[in-house]
Amino acid sequence: MGCACWTEAECKVAAAAAAHAPAVFMAKDSHEIDGCVWSPGPVIVGAGPAGLAVAACLKERGIPSVVLERAGCIASLWQLKTYDRLRLHLPKQFCELPRMPFPAGFPKYPDRRQFVSYLEAYAGAFDVRPRFHQTVVEARYDAAVGLWRVRTSEGGREYFSRWLVVATGENAEAVVPDLEGAAGFRGAVAHTSSYKSGDSYRGKRVLVVGCGNSGMEVCLDLCDNNALPTIVVRDSVHILPRELLGCSTFGLSMWLLRWLPIRAVDLLLLLLARLLLGDTDRVGLTRPRVGPLQLKLLHGKTPVIDVGTLRKIKSGDIKVRPALKRLTQRGAEFTDGRSEEFDAVLFATGYKSNVPCWLKEAEGFFSSKDGLPTRPFPHGWKGERGLYAVGFTKRGLMGASLDARRIAQDIEQCWKAELLKEVKSFTIFPPKQKQQSSSN
Ligand SMILES: Cc1cc2nc3c(=O)[nH]c(=O)nc-3n(C[C@H](O)[C@H](O)[C@H](O)COP(=O)(O)OP(=O)(O)OC[C@H]3O[C@@H](n4cnc5c(N)ncnc54)[C@H](O)[C@@H]3O)c2cc1C
Repeated sequence: MGCACWTEAECKVAAAAAAHAPAVFMAKDSHEIDGCVWSPGPVIVGAGPAGLAVAACLKERGIPSVVLERAGCIASLWQLKTYDRLRLHLPKQFCELPRMPFPAGFPKYPDRRQFVSYLEAYAGAFDVRPRFHQTVVEARYDAAVGLWRVRTSEGGREYFSRWLVVATGENAEAVVPDLEGAAGFRGAVAHTSSYKSGDSYRGKRVLVVGCGNSGMEVCLDLCDNNALPTIVVRDSVHILPRELLGCSTFGLSMWLLRWLPIRAVDLLLLLLARLLLGDTDRVGLTRPRVGPLQLKLLHGKTPVIDVGTLRKIKSGDIKVRPALKRLTQRGAEFTDGRSEEFDAVLFATGYKSNVPCWLKEAEGFFSSKDGLPTRPFPHGWKGERGLYAVGFTKRGLMGASLDARRIAQDIEQCWKAELLKEVKSFTIFPPKQKQQSSSN
């Protein structure tokens, strides 16, 4: 059982601290007494790439941390919730975590297994050992004692720390829309987070709802496995080739942005994409009015990187349909009045943050609506009272690495100031004298 009340925990922690100060406050390891765990460094929630990056950056500065992870492994999104054929969408140099590049022998776009092996090596190199099967169900700041209290469901532990780093990601929970008729549909229904390969869909008519990177790639995989996919494209979408003029489209964009304004780079990207991919509007994939980079900047909407799906759409192997009106017992009705039969529906409708479910904070650093930091980039990494957010900038792994560096730097300043305070008090009142004076 966890602590019944704070005073009990406070007494235990304070008693331990008084007996060993500064050894306990600045100790390398956490201390556990009756389900109450005192963490001398930050508590980091989530052992995905972002959480690992913060823990590593802290470790390098000599600051210990406790990493809490609900799954039984690191990078659970990549290990458990992604499909087999997935590769990084961006070249490896844009996806590496701080202080450790990908192995030189890895391809330009590492596959999912290679990426996981890189993350495992990363955790090993920085000796980051998350506590697995620790789902955080509540975290709140206790102003009376100036500490964050983080409660987990398994084992009923409560962790105490001066700092809380939220690293649960933008993709913590799968989003499935509430569709009319969904309950009556007789075929199989799943979210892409549970899709591994098209093998089990061989010969089946599959409706894929959503045309982001996952939806488009899953359609290609279904095609390659002799299934019959139809993709629902409700909104306008930018499709870009993965490579342009022999460079990655992302790398080329970053380079061009050094010299040109974003609108000019967007125009150039669209021109090159048109030359390479043709007019996507003609196959039902209407481009937004705003350019791809501006759209990402303004609304966080990522362009789709084409890895071969467009060719299959053009050849008719993948059908494109407008928004869904409703599901029926045997299939679906679309907004253009068409009605078709399907054997299965796959929702490629994305993910959302789960922060509002467990973080109790009154300051509104995280939005209660979408669970993302309310402060605009680049100010969304630091909240009040030792609260931090890593990996919530819609800038993928590169954004998470940038956040991680900033957070570790910021905590280090605090850590050093605390250490100095402790050392001073230790010099003035060594433990023996403290004990004597308290018994007087
Ligand atoms: C299919 C797919 C492909 C992608 N490809 C790329 C790419 O090529 N390049 C790129 O830069 N980005 C890509 N992304 C974006 C992706 O979000 C990041 O790459 C990366 O996984 C984000 O890392 P993270 O640590 O912030 O979040 P996550 O990887 O989601 O890790 C968060 C961790 O927190 C844990 N957690 C959640 N809630 C709790 C809780 N209450 N208690 C304890 N633990 C909890 C989760 O189990 C998880 O392990 C892709 C995303 C998807 C879905």
